[in-house]
Amino acid sequence: MDLEIAGRKALVCGASQGLGFACAAALAQEGVLVTLAARRAEALAKAAAAIAERCGQRPATVAADLSSPEGRQAVLAACPEPDILVTNAGGPPSKDFRTISSADWSAALDGNFLSAVELIRGSIDGMIARRFGRIVNITSMTVRMPVQQLDLSNATRLALTGYVAGVARQVAAHNVSINNLLPGTIATERILQLGDTARRLIEKVPAGRAGKPEEFAAACAFLCSAKAGFITGQNLLVDGGLCPITV
Ligand code: NAD
Repeated sequence: MDLEIAGRKALVCGASQGLGFACAAALAQEGVLVTLAARRAEALAKAAAAIAERCGQRPATVAADLSSPEGRQAVLAACPEPDILVTNAGGPPSKDFRTISSADWSAALDGNFLSAVELIRGSIDGMIARRFGRIVNITSMTVRMPVQQLDLSNATRLALTGYVAGVARQVAAHNVSINNLLPGTIATERILQLGDTARRLIEKVPAGRAGKPEEFAAACAFLCSAKAGFITGQNLLVDGGLCPITV
């Protein structure tokens, strides 16, 4: 299927490894001109080289912390007027809810809520003017199935879900779509580092295995495609059926 996005410009966040990297590679494979954003220049250079080897096109890179206003500004300056925006950052730490401080809340909101909100705000008017925009936010299956001790993540991702539900409908008439992709047990470096905890979770997946980053990235590429213009404001689980049945 031709996704009809060759030559479009994409800004992909948290793209030095894991899901962000896989999504960037899938878009580059479609001929999209990709900019990779993450904190460390060295890891970004490695990621860009890996994509260049696979797709014959070396993505631009920008090293910046998306949880700070300056970092978000730097990222938007490196990729002004993207047609496609994939927001993503590392998840907040696991903590007992009684020990969560206001500083913890601020950090989680900056990293997993405001980073996406501010990048959307900074790029959406250009998308509206050009009558094409695709925004995919990488959130989490915890949006559908909150996990104990991950209260910082549960709450901040639901905040983003609520924000997107409202905004997506205000821009849909301009061929700008916003959707959230909800990963669950996709085998990234981070998940594999969780060892036994990850293994126990993967045993419960009805598909009988962990997901592959490429499978998640294929869903992302489709939602970023010209073909997906009538899908907006959705929360799509990519979890092998792990979340309990919802209708
Ligand atoms: P990961 O830790 O492997 O990758 C995160 C990427 O984001 C890295 O490139 C990292 O450098 C970058 N990053 C982190 N914080 C950043 C910041 N402040 N500014 C700029 N870049 C930053 O994680 P992953 O497994 O690829 O997961 C991506 C997101 O999806 C995370 O928020 C994670 O919590 C969530 N998630 C993943 C799964 C899964 O199955 N892998 C399940 C649920 C939720």
